[in-house]
Amino acid sequence: MTQLELARKGTISPQMESVARAEGVEAEFVRQGVARGTIVVSANTGHASLVPCGIGQGLRTKVNANIGTSSDYGSLETELEKLRAAIESGADTAMDLSTGGDISAIRRAIIAASTVPIGTVPIYQAGIRAIDGHGAIVRMSVDDVFAAIEEHVRDGVDFITVHCGLTQSAVARLREQHRIADVVSRGGAFLIGWMLHNECENPLYEHYDRLLELCREFDVTLSLGDGMRPGCLADATDRAQIEELLIAGELVDRAWEAGVQVMVEGPGHLPLHHIEANVKLQKSVCRGAPFYVLGPLVTDIAAGYDHITGAIGGAIAAAAGADFLCYVTPAEHLGLPDAEDVREGVVASRIAAHAADIAKGVRGAEQWDREMSLARKRLDWQQQEKLSLRPELSRRVHAKHTTTGSACSMCGDYCAMKLVEDYLGVSAGRC
Ligand code: SF4
Repeated sequence: MTQLELARKGTISPQMESVARAEGVEAEFVRQGVARGTIVVSANTGHASLVPCGIGQGLRTKVNANIGTSSDYGSLETELEKLRAAIESGADTAMDLSTGGDISAIRRAIIAASTVPIGTVPIYQAGIRAIDGHGAIVRMSVDDVFAAIEEHVRDGVDFITVHCGLTQSAVARLREQHRIADVVSRGGAFLIGWMLHNECENPLYEHYDRLLELCREFDVTLSLGDGMRPGCLADATDRAQIEELLIAGELVDRAWEAGVQVMVEGPGHLPLHHIEANVKLQKSVCRGAPFYVLGPLVTDIAAGYDHITGAIGGAIAAAAGADFLCYVTPAEHLGLPDAEDVREGVVASRIAAHAADIAKGVRGAEQWDREMSLARKRLDWQQQEKLSLRPELSRRVHAKHTTTGSACSMCGDYCAMKLVEDYLGVSAGRC
């Protein structure tokens, strides 16, 4: 039985208990969320090293790190290094988006090495195999698509991105929309090319029940991809994007009927003032299914700093109700990220997620900041380091310019915290 089926029967599984412990909430709260579909516990029954992770309403906002080779760069060793960097920096999940090298071997090694849930986009491998075997993506058969999906779920992948809502009706809307960036989703582009060339409906939509059967068998969580996600601000919240979202809402209902856990992916590039509306729309159309946003990036002009544009958008999206943030690295739009880019991206998204968790009232979020404030007031540098997102960085920056007293080198003898304590007797202990 899947976590969803167990929850509906009233059973609290060991995975739900583990999520509850990690979140500091009652196991019954997790069970109820899973039963309603507002929480997913993404845990393939075959992922032996997994520590289960809950994503959804009432839980801490989660952060995903995308890793994986490209056709030009990357190796098993570099991808495992990126996985370690992601987990050490606090990523809650990772997606292996490999499109180069021995894709199957890389995926299996990543799953074996990972304690966090692993996601993949199986259509990449199906498309690459079609190019290698038949000379073009458009020669891929429906069975080729499902063979790749089956291989991924049997390998122990916990969630898969599948662009099932990308139907011919959404493609028709795209044609009429006259976008600037058209389609920026790789999986979406593979499928659209196939659908237009073969004049067929999206196989993931047409054979959705076959997909549900596979996911149910291994309790793999569906992540309904947004092939029409806007790739620039000018394309945001248009008819093509919303058409796909409406279909995704219907597919959420069908997944739940089949006992399969499901979440829904969203933009992409959005101007700041579109973000809240996008979250509310998804939550309404998809009946509260967890929302997994890719960024969103709030401006198109910050190449090299897109971990920051993504974190700004992520904080607003999560505060409005998004549950899961896909990180963006400083290498976004420029190249394949390395391990240091992964670290920067994870930390930027964790800042966004935590800032949103304070606004959402997530258990323990406000307390973390309160403890940091008390440590700052006490000029307790060790405790500040411990409470930092990157303790080693905090220690290194503080140690760069030493002082003779307990204050830092910013104000030295004129440290405001110390002066007020000396003259007014206000100390952190009395806060
Ligand atoms: S010296 Fe200035 S910056 Fe440093 S702890 Fe004191 S008030 Fe804060």
